[in-house]
Order: sequence, then C-alpha cells, then structure tokens
Amino acid sequence: TVKTGENTNYAYYDESIRRHLWAEKDIESRMSAALENREFTVYYQPKVDLRTGRIGCAEALVRWRSQGGTVIPPDRFIPVFERKFMIDRLDQYVFEDVCRWLKSRLDAGKRVLPVSVNVSRLQFNDLNFVENYVAIRDRYHIPAELIEVEFTESIAFDNSSLLLRTVHQLKEAGFTCSIDDFGKGYSSLSLLKDLPVDILKIDSFFFADGSDHNRDMALVESIVELVKKFNMRTVAEGIESMDQVEYLKQIGCDYVQGYVFYRPMPEDEYDGVLDEEK
Ligand code: C2E
Ligand code: MG
Ligand code: MG
Ligand code: MG
Repeated sequence: TVKTGENTNYAYYDESIRRHLWAEKDIESRMSAALENREFTVYYQPKVDLRTGRIGCAEALVRWRSQGGTVIPPDRFIPVFERKFMIDRLDQYVFEDVCRWLKSRLDAGKRVLPVSVNVSRLQFNDLNFVENYVAIRDRYHIPAELIEVEFTESIAFDNSSLLLRTVHQLKEAGFTCSIDDFGKGYSSLSLLKDLPVDILKIDSFFFADGSDHNRDMALVESIVELVKKFNMRTVAEGIESMDQVEYLKQIGCDYVQGYVFYRPMPEDEYDGVLDEEK
C-alpha cells in the first residue's frame, strides 16, 4: 500500500533506526556537513480553522534525511543543535526554505497562506535575531503577514525581560507571534498579560490519553476563555479524533493541528493540498 505524507517516512524511519541507531555523537559530528549538504527538508502541517473548516496556516517542521538514508526526527537533533549553539543556523535554514517556497507560489500567482516557523528560545539571546529574520524575509519579498513565529515560554528557566523585549521587536517587525507548547512545563499565565502575542498553542499533552481527562478539559476550557479576553487566538495541538474536534469547536478554540486532519507532509504534497482546496 502506498501511504501519503509522514506515514511512509516514519515507517522508513522506524526501520532504519533499528539498523542504524545514531548516537548523539554521530549527530554531533554530522550536523555541520549536513547543513552544508542541505540534508534538511521542511515538512508542512496545516492548521485547520474551526469556523470555516479550511486551512488557515501551516507549521514548518524540519526533517533530516541523512545521506545514508536515515531519517532522524527533530526531537533527537534539535537539542544537540541547541547544545552546540548551532540552532540559529538550522532555524534560519528552515526559515529561508519557507521563504523560497512562499516566493515560488507568489511568483506563480498561486494561493498562499501564512506559515509558522519554530524558533529556538536560544536565538532570543542574539541581539541581531529579529534583524536577521527581517533580512531573510525581505530578500525573498515575503509580505510580513505571511510569517508567524513560534517559540516556547517557560518562565522557570527564562529571562522574562529578554523575552518581552524580543517579542516586542518581532511584533514591530510585523511578525505574528505564537507561544508553542503552552501548558507544558512551567508556563505562566501572568506573563501572558504582558506579552503581545497573537496566538497560543495548547500543548498536545492535554489531549493525550492517560492523564485525568476531566481535569485536563477544565484547564483547556479556562485557557481558551482567558486567551479570548486577551484577544489572542488558540490552536489545539496533537488532535487525533473528531470527538476532540467537536469539543474544541464547542468551547471556542480557533484552530486544530493534528493527525485527525493532516500529518506533516513534504512541500510538493502541501502544494497539491492548497491548490485543491482553493
Ligand atoms: P512542535 O513545534 O510542538 O510541533 C508539533 C509536533 O507535534 C510535531 O512533531 C508534529 O509532527 C507533531 N504532531 C502534530 N500533530 C500530531 C498528532 O495528532 N499526534 C501526534 N502524536 N503528534 C502530532 P515533530 O515534527 O516531530 O517536531 C517536534 C518538535 O521539534 C517541534 O514541536 C518543535 O519543538 C521542534 N522543531 C521542529 N522543527 C523545528 C525547527 O525548524 N526549529 C526548531 N527550533 N524546532 C523545531
Ligand atoms: Mg511548533
Ligand atoms: Mg507545540
Ligand atoms: Mg512540542
């Protein structure tokens, strides 16, 4: 059977990882060459607007297809890139690839929707971070409203004045800002009132089996309600069932991102999805 999108790759990945388990030191020793050899590709996972049932945006998610054919998932290599202070290079590589793709659609007169890119919080330590992103966006002539920046917020480990300053800079530069993985770890509700973010992504943890469902849903409802009062939008991550979709619609969540609608898919497949939905 021919499966689409991520299915194929993960099946492939599962197999190869058994044959070829990459240790962290393998990752470390190959990262730099992998960037130069352009072994990274960007997959797109749509976020569906619950009011219209149509795609509202897509998240860019990096994939590493090594020259040996092994596909390595981001959760394995992102922390290594962070530890080696190379995450800025990887994030910018992804952002540039997104801009290249958006430009190709704009030039062809095709339909475009916003894309969100993940940005490591480590990049916030770099004073030129926002400037660098603006320069990339301008080089490809991408309208500001097409780019959303996702970052995590965890007050326990973070310098909140640095966070505030950077988010203000991003907003001034016209980027849509979104807090990723909200509710995982030490998220702070009080920080939200000072942060000019547009979107809050509720972590998939709340929707996974195993924890206390009723309490989780009570939390999700309060988050959605609170966030509305701040004029922010909400995205529910990791949604796998239509029951969850119906529920999220009822409580006023704005977008759903999850396998229930789409898995992350390669660029050409997302092209097809966008062209078909019209
Ligand atoms: P994230 O930003 O929270 O992205 C969502 C993750 O959830 C993605 O995993 C996505 O494939 C997965 N997902 C989406 N829907 C479902 C679902 O219904 N069920 C389940 N079980 N999973 C779902 P992925 O692509 O493996 O990425 C993992 C993490 O790696 C991302 O979490 C993000 O933190 C990081 N990441 C990915 N690309 C980049 C990047 O370009 N730069 C940086 N700094 N981090 C990245
Ligand atoms: Mg994300
Ligand atoms: Mg997330
Ligand atoms: Mg995550």
